Amino acid sequence: MLDSTCCAPNCLEKPYAPAGTRSICKDHFLNFLTWRRRRGARMFHTYAGMTMEERDTIAAEWMKTIRMDEAPAPAPKL
Ligand SMILES: [Zn+2]
Repeated sequence: MLDSTCCAPNCLEKPYAPAGTRSICKDHFLNFLTWRRRRGARMFHTYAGMTMEERDTIAAEWMKTIRMDEAPAPAPKL
């Protein structure tokens, strides 16, 4: 519950808001909000009424997407 750092992969920022039973930093929280909005208004509103366990599922799904976004790009060869 009381994470000392953001629970997103490779992030050492201080926790800002909960994502399910875990905590994420401000940047990742905003990213999570954007992701939920992109999935549609229905998902956005549904999340508010979800239990912690259900939110964990959503947060886990979102975390898979940030892992992909933040995968190190191959360094361009000069
Ligand atoms: Zn973070």
